[in-house]
Parts: sequence; C-alpha cells; structure tokens
Amino acid sequence: MNQFATRKIRLIMKLRSEGIQDTAVLSAIEKIPREAFVPGSMRDQAYEDKTLPIGLEQTISQPFVVATMTQALELDYNHKVLEVGTGSGYQAAVLSLLCRRVYSIERHRPLLEAAEQRFEQLKLRNITAICADGMKGWQEQAPFDRIIVTACAQIAPPDALLNQLKEGGIMIIPVAFADGSQKLMRYKKEGEDTFAVRDIVPVRFVPLLPNVVARNAYQPQELQEVAF
Ligand code: SAH
Repeated sequence: MNQFATRKIRLIMKLRSEGIQDTAVLSAIEKIPREAFVPGSMRDQAYEDKTLPIGLEQTISQPFVVATMTQALELDYNHKVLEVGTGSGYQAAVLSLLCRRVYSIERHRPLLEAAEQRFEQLKLRNITAICADGMKGWQEQAPFDRIIVTACAQIAPPDALLNQLKEGGIMIIPVAFADGSQKLMRYKKEGEDTFAVRDIVPVRFVPLLPNVVARNAYQPQELQEVAF
C-alpha cells in the first residue's frame, strides 16, 4: 500500500455517504491518483475533499463535485464526451475510465501541456486535448453524447455547446444566475431545440471565459506555478 491508500479509502467512503452511489464512478476515482494532478507542495492534501489551486488562478475541483458531475453524466463505455476546462486534467482522467473517448479543451496552454504530460505518464490514451476556446465547442468532433463544463457559464450555457450535444445527450454545467448564486445544471437534449433542465447542487467554480490566453500574457513566475 502506498502512503495515500488509507486516505483514498476514507475519501471514497465519504463520497459514498454523501450520495455517490455509482460504483463505476467511485472505482474510477479510486484508480486515478489525484496526487499526480495537484502541485507538489499540496500532495499531502490530495485526498481531502477540497478544491486546490493549480496555478494561473485556476483550481482542481473538489472530489465530491467531480464525483457528482461524473455520476450525473450517466456515462457508458460507448460515449464520446466533450470536456470544457481541462485544468489539471483530473476530471478528464476520471472520465477516460468510464467512456470511449474524451475530447478536452483548455484556454491556458501551460495548463494544457501539464495535463497532457500526466495523461502520457498514466498511459491514458483515450483523451485528446487542445488549447482553444471551449465556449465554441469542438465542431470537427461534434456531436457528443455527453458534455461536461468545469468552469461557470453566465446565465445560460453557450449555444455552440447546446448545438453540439446529440439528441438524447446530457450536458452538465455550472451556471451563475443574476442573484450571484451558482448551480450545477443538467441539460438533457430531448429534441433538436428542446431541453429538460434541472439543477443538481449549489457549486463554486472559476468563470468560463472567452478566447485562448496569449503566451505573452504570462509572467515567468506564474508559469513556474504550473510546472510541478
Ligand atoms: N476540470 C479541471 C478543473 C478546471 S478549472 C480539473 O479537473 O482540474 C476550470 C478550467 O476551465 C480552467 O483551467 C480554465 O482555464 C478553463 N476555462 C475557462 N474558460 C474556458 C474556455 N472558454 N475554454 C476552455 N477552457 C476554459
């Protein structure tokens, strides 16, 4: 057993007691080493149910939120899934064990490159990630069976993402409302332009922002934070 094994078991039990019943989701969380996705200085906190910083003002989501979003996607092994907001790559790694292929988009190139290295090290070969504006979706690969957005949209999901979802498909996305509250929302596409919408749980996500961040926008010290 490695040093994280006991903490990992404790985390899985906590997730189960908080309503995560899907055993495939729990087992994927058990298999993916979260310590490989957090900065070195925070590795001992990897199995606490906490959001942690990953550099460039971004965060790796709390395990409970990752589990809740993954469970709400109702995945199967034939699904083609789009993720917007690769970040550390942790959510994509969890998804990769539960579906056929993950397409993930990140607007910060340094984060994307660090995530790609982790996928390589962990031999997760069914993830394709690019640096682009995920608010536009990924037209060449559309339509998707499932879409998961791990940054918060304002008022409503981007139209491009709703359009790139297959009929019968599910999108899970945090949305911020006019009163400042943020909720995790589930959109099920029932017809070409009709959706069944419900909220799942209140959340706190970094914002979904347009455009790719230019390389010269970074300070050298910010880039060091990403290279863990
Ligand atoms: N899923 C990540 C958590 C990501 S935090 C993980 O498991 O670690 C949200 C991420 O969304 C940030 O990295 C942020 O840069 C990214 N993001 C925000 N707006 C985006 C957009 N329009 N396109 C792609 N990525 C975006």
